Amino acid sequence: MASIRNIVILTGAGISAESGVATFRGPDGLWEGHRVEDVCTPEALAADPALVHEFYDMRRAKLGTVKPNAAHHALARLDAEWPGELLIVTQNVDDLHERAGAKRMLHMHGELLSALCAGCGARQRWTGAMPPGQACGACGMAALRPDIVFFGEIPYRMDEIEAALAQADLFVSIGTSGAVYPAAGFVRLAHHYGARTLELNLDPSEGSSWFDESRLGRAGELVPIWVAEILADGGQAPPSA
Ligand code: NAD
Ligand code: ZN
Repeated sequence: MASIRNIVILTGAGISAESGVATFRGPDGLWEGHRVEDVCTPEALAADPALVHEFYDMRRAKLGTVKPNAAHHALARLDAEWPGELLIVTQNVDDLHERAGAKRMLHMHGELLSALCAGCGARQRWTGAMPPGQACGACGMAALRPDIVFFGEIPYRMDEIEAALAQADLFVSIGTSGAVYPAAGFVRLAHHYGARTLELNLDPSEGSSWFDESRLGRAGELVPIWVAEILADGGQAPPSA
């Protein structure tokens, strides 16, 4: 087994569940009581901006009441101590990875704490409520929207993600259902490029059969164990050894 140097980690809503952030599709199939198409599409934003803004205002306000959990802390430790390449790609729009101290990470689906100008594309940090029609700090147009990648929009920094996957020796997917593309396709891409693939999730994800190994359980337990293993191995042994 070749040694592991370059790691790409994909995280989803499941890694924040133990912090008290609701996952995308609860048992009722809704996200915090809403149909995804009513709050998470460009059409919804155009049709009912007040509802969409209020939905993300509530998600943003919730951030003040939650803290990173053991899984976020373990990945921040891995980021600090792993001597090889590492990229944490999160689908999450919360800020729990960075609050735990992770640095080598990116938000492919945007961030609650950011506002995007639909006019000029400028971004600015945003912490409070964002009523529709807020003026952009860069161009002055009343066009600020939540900096969230809606369904039908292209996720951010895909070139960087694909380049990292092409170099990866190990791809680890944590707390994601494998239902939202293109993130759900990363395991196949990583496999195609020759990486080992590991899944840490509460339930088998939709792409579970693509993983070399699946460990089922809570991220707050599984992630610290896996991080301790890989740091102890120094990448010399496969993750299942
Ligand atoms: P998802 O809700 O579709 O899937 C969550 C997965 O996590 C499920 O497979 C579930 O079994 C698993 N899970 C639940 N609790 C867990 C735990 N304690 N430990 C480990 N796994 C657990 O989420 P997704 O795949 O990330 O896709 C959802 C989309 O919704 C993303 O695009 C994301 O932007 C958005 N979203 C983000 C947040 C957030 O920022 N925290 C929350 C909800 C939705
Ligand atoms: Zn602007």
